[in-house]
Amino acid sequence: MVIPVYLYAGRKKLRVVNRKRTPRVEYLALQHSERRSNLSFDVVIMLYRNVPKTGDSLSILGFGCMRLPLTKTGAVDEPRAIQQIRSAIDNGVNYVDTAPVYHLGKSELVLGKALAGGYREKVRIATKLPPWSVHKRADMDRILDSQLKTLATDHIDYYLLHSLSQESWEKLKSLGVLEFLSTAKKDGRIRNAGFSFHGTTATLKEIVDAYYWEFCQIQYNYLDEHNQAGTEGLKYAAKNRLAVMIMEPLRGGNLAGPVPDEIQKIWDGAQLKRSPAEWGLRWVWNHPEVTVVLSGMNNEAHIEENLRAAASALPDSLSHDESALIARVRDTYQRLMKVGCTACGYCMPCPSGVDIPGCFASYNTHHLFPHDRSAKFLYIGRHGGVLGDKSYAGLCRQCGKCEKICPQHLPVPMLIKQVSLEMEGRGLGLKIRLVKSVLWCYDKAERIKRKFERKTR
Ligand code: SF4
Ligand code: SF4
Repeated sequence: MVIPVYLYAGRKKLRVVNRKRTPRVEYLALQHSERRSNLSFDVVIMLYRNVPKTGDSLSILGFGCMRLPLTKTGAVDEPRAIQQIRSAIDNGVNYVDTAPVYHLGKSELVLGKALAGGYREKVRIATKLPPWSVHKRADMDRILDSQLKTLATDHIDYYLLHSLSQESWEKLKSLGVLEFLSTAKKDGRIRNAGFSFHGTTATLKEIVDAYYWEFCQIQYNYLDEHNQAGTEGLKYAAKNRLAVMIMEPLRGGNLAGPVPDEIQKIWDGAQLKRSPAEWGLRWVWNHPEVTVVLSGMNNEAHIEENLRAAASALPDSLSHDESALIARVRDTYQRLMKVGCTACGYCMPCPSGVDIPGCFASYNTHHLFPHDRSAKFLYIGRHGGVLGDKSYAGLCRQCGKCEKICPQHLPVPMLIKQVSLEMEGRGLGLKIRLVKSVLWCYDKAERIKRKFERKTR
């Protein structure tokens, strides 16, 4: 890992050098010895940006607890998740974001455990009030009090109204949510009030103007400049002195690897070699209006890569050529991507059992990698009931529930029908049997191989 080291003589910055990572202790020793010669080292392991209304200093990389690591059975891998969260905090992250709906309530619970043993004091916790669980004013207090217990804390630093759109905003407002926020601030249960958002720019402006918010959270990445809040919403919130937290900076991982050959060729043309994920994150950090970028991290290598980028991603630091390169990637994606699903999972569970984000992910992969014939095979394996319950697109009964809730405003039932036509086609039962027999043969071959290896040992 390479981290930048800033050299100072008095208050004057002399130069920035990159060094191979050595133990932090070694840097601190270096810092001490250099002070004696009127030079000092600042080891930058994380950059911070201030919340305009309070001056609170937040790490530009926030740990999103929406996609924690899972075990083979699909449960949250608690020890690994706790280790990852703590390691990020040890490396300078001081903003962690969760919500009751993430991992069906497990996310808050695991975060609470991760912050035991002195970690709570090192971070700001962000969590959210789910509008869909609120039916009366008293529900707000009940939910917040139970979150405090689950997170094992006496206050939430950054409390958000979750996933606002025009409809949910009107509902919460009519139930007295603004009075609730003010009361909770006054009695110390929350420190800063904000909202996360998936509506239109016009609705965002209306909400920004309606209350003394300290912050908001919007979806923003190089494919969403003109979608939802977009650049206009980002600038409006920042102009009104709100800190802006960014979610989905890589569109649910779609902008990270593996990327289609056509996209990879563009990245390969860059003078400075970076991963697609790093380019995506740097594009967001390049905006001075952005405060924290949330990354739903669940892989140690990705965490390390994100931390490294967060140590040097200053605002307005992308060159003209780098910005042009990202614009080319964006145009190419827009041409290749079939469905703009971010895999947020808000539309789940589907009453007919369709794995909506999973089906869209397979469909996008099928179109992004046209030479890879495995997408259809994997689709049948994953959703045809071969490896678990049936969850293929053809189960859809067009009830329309998913369309009403989708924050990306996707015409989900129509798109799901399209997925069924292209990915399943005719004779689905026969294809499922075929995939089952291929897997059976593979399994058999593996067992024979293991038996043979045991005998020859
Ligand atoms: S429209 Fe289809 S995919 Fe959407 S919730 Fe209803 S059954 Fe499920
Ligand atoms: S279809 Fe919409 S609600 Fe469902 S996972 Fe995708 S983006 Fe989220």
